[in-house]
Amino acid sequence: MLARKLIIGNWKLNGSLNANRDLLKGLLDAIPHIQPRLSAIEWVVCPPAVYLSQVQELLSGSEMQWGAQDLSNEQKGAYTGEISAHMLLEFGCRYALVGHSERRSKFTESSALIASKAITALEAGLTPVICVGESLADRESGNTWNVLSEQLDPLLALLNPGTMNRIVIAYEPLWAIGTGRNADGVTAQETHAFIRNKLAQVDLACAAEVSILYGGSVKAANASEYAAQSDVDGVLVGGASLVISEFLEIGKAFQASLGE
Ligand code: PEP
Repeated sequence: MLARKLIIGNWKLNGSLNANRDLLKGLLDAIPHIQPRLSAIEWVVCPPAVYLSQVQELLSGSEMQWGAQDLSNEQKGAYTGEISAHMLLEFGCRYALVGHSERRSKFTESSALIASKAITALEAGLTPVICVGESLADRESGNTWNVLSEQLDPLLALLNPGTMNRIVIAYEPLWAIGTGRNADGVTAQETHAFIRNKLAQVDLACAAEVSILYGGSVKAANASEYAAQSDVDGVLVGGASLVISEFLEIGKAFQASLGE
């Protein structure tokens, strides 16, 4: 089985009831015209958690899926402000982002905590989208593979062939997130191949089935560069996922690469 193609929009701390309705209506009107009903591409949005109920109402029964931007590694109890996997499932989430670089840097989440969140999501039946990526200083000093290994190893130690093919990895170099400076297709391909090789250490066959997404200043103008790479199975999109035409064009680029 080949890795599934995924186009995921991360709304971050953006949205309102009215803006969400307009955005999703625009996407829902257009997506059926872009792709055949049973396409290999899945479109996903990750709104702020308070809007999951609204998003569930608007997207249920449609071509689109939705997910959370984070989840707790705890099930229940005295963890003020946290949201559990079970709660996300009640609102129809299929996905949860885990370890976004903003969580790692601004909320000091460690790779061990992120691995534990990913396992919690898997055990509950959610697909964790585990984000990894190096800083500009790491890239320029040739430290990228070490950083990615440090981020991935605690996770890989907890996975087995039965669980690994249910994860998604998002490679998001820090220097490309929200900066307008995207990694070129060749850099993304080379890094994704490195990540897939790491996954192959757990299980060779399953590694081929894991979707590895690129994220970092993806927009309509550069999406086909990623769609053309054999190890880029989709994209995680921040800013451009809030603009209907941009998000649609990004999906179209991946649709075109399938030749459906
Ligand atoms: C992100 O938030 O994951 C992201 C990649 O943001 P942007 O597309 O805006 O760079």
